[in-house]
Order: sequence, then structure tokens, then C-alpha cells
Amino acid sequence: MQEALTTILELQEPDMQMLQLLRLKKGRKIELETIHSVEGALRDQVESKEKEVIELKKNIRLAEGELNEISAKFKKLEAQQHAIKKVDEFNALNHEMSQVERERTAKEQRLSEAYDKLAGEEELYKTLLESLDSTVNNNKAIETEILESIARINEEGRGLKAQRDELAKQADPNILGIYERLLRNKRDRVVVPIENRCCSGCHIMLTAQDENIVRKGELLVFCEHCSRILFWQESEALEGSTVATKQRRRRTKASQT
Ligand SMILES: [Zn+2]
Repeated sequence: MQEALTTILELQEPDMQMLQLLRLKKGRKIELETIHSVEGALRDQVESKEKEVIELKKNIRLAEGELNEISAKFKKLEAQQHAIKKVDEFNALNHEMSQVERERTAKEQRLSEAYDKLAGEEELYKTLLESLDSTVNNNKAIETEILESIARINEEGRGLKAQRDELAKQADPNILGIYERLLRNKRDRVVVPIENRCCSGCHIMLTAQDENIVRKGELLVFCEHCSRILFWQESEALEGSTVATKQRRRRTKASQT
């Protein structure tokens, strides 16, 4: 059993690295989404400010037209005034002229305010546009960096996959199946050593009896609490490198024949 677990333990290493890479890749993709959404929000702001400026300009043109009409009306009244002889008619016209004059002053006041507002909004629009430009430029560099790092992650992942596929061929198919099911569930180390009579996966205390069974290494033992596969750390099967494992495998085979 320990022999069979050794291959799974070896295989667990590239699997853990692949999980780590997947998490890294997910993080980088989120970063990419974030910079895109910031850029999108800024673009929306620029567009809405642009619309505001266009609307303001349109209103100003209308108001300018109205002011021209009022001024023309005033001039017309002025011309009429010269031709009038009677005092009461003159006074009536004078009254009308001061009304038009007040209207014109009010219109000019509103226009002046509109010009100020337009200048302010145009300034804001310019600032937003500059900010969008620099964001787009910065993002290009960040995006390139992220995409390159994702490509490196994928490359590294392919290497690890090849490594684990090779080990999977050597593994006991039953134990491999159990291991893979556990791994899919936990997305974490699922073959773990006993440490101080605790499952090092969930850190819950095991019984002396459980520990003995694991130590014997004859059966596949699962942690009652977290379902991880337990192994005995100082056991012979884990003492060394792949070479030691292979030698032992040969020994085991020899002893079987
Ligand atoms: Zn456990």
C-alpha cells in the first residue's frame, strides 16, 4: 500500500503546483477584468461629458439666437421712438422698450452663466479625456504583462501535466481514481502524513489504533473527519528519491516472484 501511495504522493506534487498555477491564473484574469472595467467606466464618463458639452453648446446657440431677436426688437422700437410726436405714445413705447431692455439683460446674464458653465465642462471633459488616454496607455503595458504571465503559466502547466500524466501511468488505477475524486472535492493536498498523531490535513487527533494501521501500511486509511488518505511519514516507502522508489519497486517485484 505504501508502495502504491508513493507514486500517488509523487503525482500529488505536480497536481498541487497545477492548482497553485490555476489560482494564480485566475487572479491575473481578475486583474485584467478590473483594468478593463476601470477603463470602461472612464470611457462612459468621457462619453457622457461629451454629450453634456454638445447639449450646452446647442442651448447656447439657441439663447444667442433669442438674444439677437431681442436686440433687433429693441432697435426697431428705438427707430419707432424717433418718429413719434405724441407724449403718451412716446411714454408707452418707452415703457415697452425698458421691458425689452430688462428681458435682454436677463438673457445676457443667463448666457454669460452658460458660457462659464460650458468653459468649466469643457475643462472637465479635457481632463477626463487625458485621464482616459493615460489609463489606456498604462493598461496596454499592464495587459501585455498579464497576458505574458498567463502564457508562462499555461506553459508551466503543460510541463506539469506531462509530468503527472507520466506518473499516472505508473499509478495503481484504483488508488489513482480515489485520489482524483478526493482532489476534485478538496482542491488541496489529499494524501497527507500523520503528524503528532494528527491528520495533517484537518489537524484532528487520530486514535492509536488508526495510527497503527497507517504505520503498518497494509491498508488504505482515510481520515474519519476529512476523508484524506493518511500515510506514515517515516515509513520506508518515503525515505528517498524517485531512484530509491524504483529500486524498491524492483525489490518488491522480485520478492513477489
Ligand atoms: Zn483529516
